Amino acid sequence: MNSIYERVSDINRTKMIIFKTASDLGHQLDKYRQKGQAIGFAPTMGALHDGHLSLLKTSKSQNQVTLCSIFVNPAQFNDPKDFKKYPSTLEQDIYKLETGGCDLLFLPPVEEIYPDGVTEKKHYDLGYLDTMLEGKFRPGHFQGVCMAVERLLEIVLPDNLYLGQKDFQQCMVIKRLIQLMGKENKIHTNICPILREQDGLAMSSRNMRLIGEQRAKAAALYETLNFLKQNLNKGSLSDLKKEATTLLQEKNFKPDYVEIANAKTLRPINEWDSRTNIVGLVAAYIGDVRLIDNMILN
Ligand code: AMP
Repeated sequence: MNSIYERVSDINRTKMIIFKTASDLGHQLDKYRQKGQAIGFAPTMGALHDGHLSLLKTSKSQNQVTLCSIFVNPAQFNDPKDFKKYPSTLEQDIYKLETGGCDLLFLPPVEEIYPDGVTEKKHYDLGYLDTMLEGKFRPGHFQGVCMAVERLLEIVLPDNLYLGQKDFQQCMVIKRLIQLMGKENKIHTNICPILREQDGLAMSSRNMRLIGEQRAKAAALYETLNFLKQNLNKGSLSDLKKEATTLLQEKNFKPDYVEIANAKTLRPINEWDSRTNIVGLVAAYIGDVRLIDNMILN
């Protein structure tokens, strides 16, 4: 069977099996299920960094079997240039997963995820999550995310799903998707903390695209979130949001948004009662690289 092959790491001799088809993967997963082994799943788009590997590590500590997937989902890129430029480092990714002790890697070609082609046939009722913040600035993005994640979840049917808080809104969207699929009692969602570089920049595959001075300036996103946190007061938040936006602009960022929202519902908050849990969220371009970050503020 040429769609399954094994690679053996020289370093720690862990064996990771790579699958390219849903049916081969499904058969393998059934074997684990028959033995009553819990399956943890961390979906990714590759160009892996320590943030991704932290999901793998958490899954390994909570499941007998851990599966990662690498699939750069064409349906979620509202900007085709962004899709074209999305970094790909497959050989290094495989090495990192093997040495991190990943058991299975799913590496599907587009046809495995979209057997009928990449078309928007289905509409997912995501409510306001679909049209605010990331949904507003990347129209269709979350519908595209849902198309790929639904298919991946149907194939894998994990006991535990591992997602990063880095994509705060996406976590909420995927939880909603799991509800829509009627699987909230079967698939348990685990949100893992944001891993950052030493200067605070949230790890992201897109950071590879930062050139020269851009990389040094990129920590301004994290500084902006800290600014929100340190200057937070009960009452109106609109001046604080404006000042934070100016901070980013001074560092040559072009912000899409600087928002403070209810951490449970993601509804924007303009007047804070000092008790509600809130999250600061930013999205901004530096050059043509769009970065996002967030922080729980209280
Ligand atoms: P991506 O490959 O960007 O689609 O990300 C795959 C998963 O890794 C998502 O659940 C992300 O939220 C998560 N992730 C990305 N960056 C980080 C980070 N810096 N720390 C923790 N998790 C992350």
